[in-house]
Amino acid sequence: MSYWQKRQQQLSKQLEKDEDKLKKRLSSYFDTEYRKLEKQIAAYYKQYGTDNVIQYRRLMESLSDADKRLLIEQMDEFAKKYPEYAHLLPVRESIYKLNRLEGLQYSVRMQQLEIGAVENEQITEHLNRQAMRGANAAAEIMGFGKNFYFNNPDITKRFVNIPWSNGENFSQKIWNNTTKLANYLNSDIAQGIARGDSYDRLVRKVRERFSSVSRNDAYRLIYTEGTYVMAESTMQPFTDDFEKYRLSTVGDGNVCSICRGVSEETFDIADRQPGVNFPPLHPWCRCTFTIEVDDWDKWMDDYEKRHGNGQAQKVANHINSDIISSSNTKEDIQVHSVGKINRDIYKCITEDIVTDEVIITDERIQHIKERHPNDYERFYSYIPEIINDPDFIIEANKPNTAVVLKEIEERGEKFKLVLRIKVQGDPEEYKNSIMTFWRIGGTTWRKTLKNKTVLYKKE
Ligand SMILES: [Zn+2]
Repeated sequence: MSYWQKRQQQLSKQLEKDEDKLKKRLSSYFDTEYRKLEKQIAAYYKQYGTDNVIQYRRLMESLSDADKRLLIEQMDEFAKKYPEYAHLLPVRESIYKLNRLEGLQYSVRMQQLEIGAVENEQITEHLNRQAMRGANAAAEIMGFGKNFYFNNPDITKRFVNIPWSNGENFSQKIWNNTTKLANYLNSDIAQGIARGDSYDRLVRKVRERFSSVSRNDAYRLIYTEGTYVMAESTMQPFTDDFEKYRLSTVGDGNVCSICRGVSEETFDIADRQPGVNFPPLHPWCRCTFTIEVDDWDKWMDDYEKRHGNGQAQKVANHINSDIISSSNTKEDIQVHSVGKINRDIYKCITEDIVTDEVIITDERIQHIKERHPNDYERFYSYIPEIINDPDFIIEANKPNTAVVLKEIEERGEKFKLVLRIKVQGDPEEYKNSIMTFWRIGGTTWRKTLKNKTVLYKKE
């Protein structure tokens, strides 16, 4: 895992912490609002009902002038508090024609508008913070210092409340959600009363609807928008100096089937499209991205030509290397993910492959560095390709172990790598892991193929 990926994980953790706080706040707010609604329904039952049942006919009578005034006051207050949302108010004039049931339904709508306004405010604030944090983190990787964007608070406007799915930004999604919920609640109430539901029964229904729908809608939105803002804001500082990225499913710890397929391809940064090839790809997606470079040497030359600040190597290490940076982060990660194998290829070793993930431990890295000085530093970036697309797999003298031969044509270098495959019955925490690898010459290559049993040969 590179320094950048670790940094992304930290960002995700901070994001989740903030999300938890926000969710708690909103959740208790929803509870308070729900109790208000319940009180209002109780008042109706008390005023227009007998034995806990309301007579529907009584609700069809015109709303009292006092209640009309109350509704109008509610609207005026909302318009004062949130002038930017005043256009969302129900038409004030038509209030004079309302019957009592409609009066209650108008109140429900008004309440949902309030809720939407509060959600909007809090979620915007939360996402602004994430956007700033994400952009700064990526800018730091690019060598611009830790607080590059703090003097430019407008930067968050580029990432927060941007329409990216179905042309809707999250405010519109919130309004859709609250409108939808108001409609549901209103038909629950009208139908319940028409059926002659008791107060308890009606309130149970309304509570279920209110609490589960508001929370679910809000939580999903917070999560998915958070992923969007994090991905876009962290990509921003890379857009000038890099061209390609790959979707990374490391983000939420589980690889989801939707993102897995997409993560196998690289895309142009300029062509990134959230919901299609850039996070989030789906509701509840928490994927990130990695920066991809075909030729780091060339990239570093170009970078220095453009910037001339002597930072190229450092930037490259931050994005690319797990080893050099692990000392930078002071984290003791002892296991490094290095790539994936194709089970079809390695079934020549065992049919019993448990995972396609491949790791290397610090201990093995140390071993390789000692036995084959410089090979690790110079060539570890080829490991994913070596294991993923071997030229030959040779029988090893140990069970469940593959000896892999691979020629990296662009470098004209040949490599030998020993991979232990995880099988059923291995300890849970085991992964397929690289035992050793080193560069070999043409003679060793030929001798190995001649003297050992070849189990797989690339077509
Ligand atoms: Zn995903």
